[in-house]
Amino acid sequence: MRKIYLDNAATTALRPEVVETMAKVLAEDYGNPSSSHSFGRHARSVIEMARKTIAKNLNCSAQEIIFTSCGTEADNWIIRAAVRDLGVKRIITSKIEHHAILHAVEAVAAESGVEVEYVKILPSGKVDLKDLKELLSREVPTLVTLMHVNNEIGTVLDLHAVGQMCRKAGAYFHSDTVQSIGKERFDLQELPIDFIVASAHKFHGPKGIGFAYVRKGLSLHPMIYGGEQEKGLRAGTEAVHNIAGMARALELSMENLDHDREYVSGLKKYAAEKIKNAFPEAKVNGEDTFYNILNVCFPFDEDKTSMILFTLDMKGIALSRGSACQSGSPRPSHVLAEILAEDDMKKPSLRISFSHFNTREDVDGLIEALSAV
Ligand code: PLP
Repeated sequence: MRKIYLDNAATTALRPEVVETMAKVLAEDYGNPSSSHSFGRHARSVIEMARKTIAKNLNCSAQEIIFTSCGTEADNWIIRAAVRDLGVKRIITSKIEHHAILHAVEAVAAESGVEVEYVKILPSGKVDLKDLKELLSREVPTLVTLMHVNNEIGTVLDLHAVGQMCRKAGAYFHSDTVQSIGKERFDLQELPIDFIVASAHKFHGPKGIGFAYVRKGLSLHPMIYGGEQEKGLRAGTEAVHNIAGMARALELSMENLDHDREYVSGLKKYAAEKIKNAFPEAKVNGEDTFYNILNVCFPFDEDKTSMILFTLDMKGIALSRGSACQSGSPRPSHVLAEILAEDDMKKPSLRISFSHFNTREDVDGLIEALSAV
């Protein structure tokens, strides 16, 4: 059976060059980067070269990159540290953030009493910038945390516009950029933003590694106490092979960006057209969405709805209903709940997410399987 993987917003396949880099580091650079002998120094240089590569690709300084185990960890640290270390008294976020943000904000609010306000989401799935402006007009030390690309529907935040609003209001600005790092060019010298985060497995790198970008001059206390790793901010022996794999994955993603973006955009357009032809009543969720995510509400009745992912899975086709952590769960998507009418919430919405490894044949296979449901 030919397998079709269309769940690239959940995770991506590694590029072969990344596997090669990681295998070499695992086999050869096994010294502890904190050791002062040549084995240690060698492993240390792998880490620092990776940090430089990442910084170069985002146009920031290497000191501003802190390695973490994943995007969730980086998000949690920044939210907690903004309240604990920067004097933040209010967090502005939205109801369509990833749970890495939503649940972290809830926990920090419960612990610290920080005030939380949720900016309005328009029916298009976009953040209501007028409402954000209104919220920011009240002078309270604030952290704004709004994601760049929504992982379920692919709506995009204008980081420039929001960053400028935050600067004007004197608020700190964090964006969960897990879905866009490696798929979009970032110029952090120019972007008015204080914190972003990344996760390597979303851009054809390994799982278990990510990073936080913390703008120079913002002094956060450690997320994990122990040794001196990551300037003492995240103690623990570094996963050298993962760090090297992440840097190589980002480098390759940026080198191939123009080509891959055009190719993947073309695939998404092809899929959208084929779906429209096969299911004229299908509706795309979200407007002006990112080039690799297509979230569609299909006009199927309730018994088909409960079986749809299972049926596709039996045919070797992988995609998601809502976000990956919710698939298989009967709980409706918190993102779709913000933008869809009750009737549409009863129908299956599927997230089809592409990478440069996909082909038109994958799309044809999906449409064929959906037509047979
Ligand atoms: N933020 C967003 C927008 C995501 O899509 C994800 C992963 O699904 C995360 C955070 C969590 O990243 P990680 O899997 O590295 O913890």
